[in-house]
Amino acid sequence: MTDSSSGSGLGSILVINGGSSTLKFALFRIGAVPVPELSGSIDRIGTPNGTITWVRGDTGTAERRTITASDHVACLEPLLACIKDHLAQTPLVAIGHRVVHGGRYREPQLVTPAVMEELQRLRGYDPEHLPAEIELIREFAGRYPHLPQVACFDTAFHADMPGVARLLPIPRRYGKVGLQRYGFHGLSYAFLMRELERVGVPHEVNGRIVLAHLGNGASLAAVKDGQPVDTTMSFTPTSGLPMSRRSGDLDPGLMAYLARTEGMSVDQFHTMVNAESGLLGISETSSDMRDLLKQEPHDPRAADAIELFCYQAKKWIGAFTAALGGLDTLVFTAGIGEHSPVIRARICDGLEYLGVALDHTRNEAGAPVISNDNGRVTVRVMHTDEESEIARSVSERLGEPKQ
Ligand code: ADP
Repeated sequence: MTDSSSGSGLGSILVINGGSSTLKFALFRIGAVPVPELSGSIDRIGTPNGTITWVRGDTGTAERRTITASDHVACLEPLLACIKDHLAQTPLVAIGHRVVHGGRYREPQLVTPAVMEELQRLRGYDPEHLPAEIELIREFAGRYPHLPQVACFDTAFHADMPGVARLLPIPRRYGKVGLQRYGFHGLSYAFLMRELERVGVPHEVNGRIVLAHLGNGASLAAVKDGQPVDTTMSFTPTSGLPMSRRSGDLDPGLMAYLARTEGMSVDQFHTMVNAESGLLGISETSSDMRDLLKQEPHDPRAADAIELFCYQAKKWIGAFTAALGGLDTLVFTAGIGEHSPVIRARICDGLEYLGVALDHTRNEAGAPVISNDNGRVTVRVMHTDEESEIARSVSERLGEPKQ
C-alpha cells in the first residue's frame, strides 16, 4: 500500500464509520465531488462468525467472507486486504473517520496529538462509540504515520444551535465544563441539507425544515434559514425519540427509583437504556421495525412499540414546528424513514392542521416528494449518505493550504 501524505492529486480516501458493533467502510476517489469506488461493512465484531461484505461502486458486484475479528482493531487486516487491489491503482491519500461525539468542535479536524487528547477527554461522554473510534484512529496512525486522518463529528452540525436549545437545566457549573445539549446524526443532516439545495425548489433550503433521521438510531433536527435550531438528541445519543434499543427521553427520577427499589447500578442502568429499551424493550421480541410490522397484527407488544415510535416522532414534529414558527419542508430519511411508507403515513396522520398532507400513491412508491399538491408542507423522502459527507469534508480539508 502506498502511504502518501501529499494530500493532492489523484488518490483515494478511506472512510471509516466504526463506533458500534458494525464497522462500515468506503473508498472514494478524491475530487471536488468524491466518487465512491467501494463500500462495505464488517458485522458481528467480537463473535466467531464475523462477516465482511463489500460492493464495488463500478460493477455493483458484492462479495462476502466469514472472518473472526475479536475487536475493531482486528477488523483492519480483513478490511485492508479487501481494498488492496483498488489501492494498487489509486493510492490512499487520507482517512476520514466518523466520530460520534466531538464535544465543542464545530468542524472536521485534522487529527493531531492535541485532537487525540481532546477525544480522550470526551471518552466518558460517549462510552458507546468513542473508545472504539479512538482505537481505530490510533491503529491507522501506527501503520501509516504520514497519512493525514480527519475526524468528522456528528455533533458539529448542531454547534450553532441557539443557546436556549443547548442549555441543560441543571446547575450552571456543569455547563461551564461542557455538559450541554449537543445533538447527533449531524453528518447525515449536513448531507441532507446539501442534497436539499440540489434537488429542492429555489430557497427551500432557507425555509423552515424538519429533518427526520429514522434508523436504528433515530433523531429529528429543526433548521431555519440554513441554521440549526434544535434537535431531539442531547448530551448523548441515548436521548430524544425511542429508538431500536435506546430509550430516548426518560424521567430523570427513574434512575434513582430503580437504584432504591432494585439496587440497579449505574452500569446496569446504562445497559438498560442503551441496549434493552426502545422498540426492543416495549415489544420484548425485536429491535427491527420490519419484524415489528410483521408481528403487529397478532402481537399487541409489537403494536405498542410501533405506536409509541410514531406518536413520539409526531410530537417532536409538532414541537419543532412551534420552535421554527411554522413548517415548510419535512424530510424522512434512514432505514425506516426512507423505506417504510406505513410509518411515514402514521407519523404524518393528524398533522394536516400544520399543512402536512400526503399523497398516498406517492408515499407507497417512496417518491422523492410524497406530499399532495394541496399540502402547504413539502414532504420528502431522501437517501442519506454519511460516508460521502465524510469523504467530501476530507477532500475539502486536503485542499486547504497547509498551516
Ligand atoms: P442504522 O441506524 O444502523 O444505520 P438503518 O438506517 O439501516 O440503521 O435503519 C435500520 C432500521 O430500518 C431497522 O429498524 C429496519 O427494520 C428499518 N427498515 C429498513 N427497511 C425497512 C422497511 N422497508 N420497512 C420498515 N422498516 C425498515
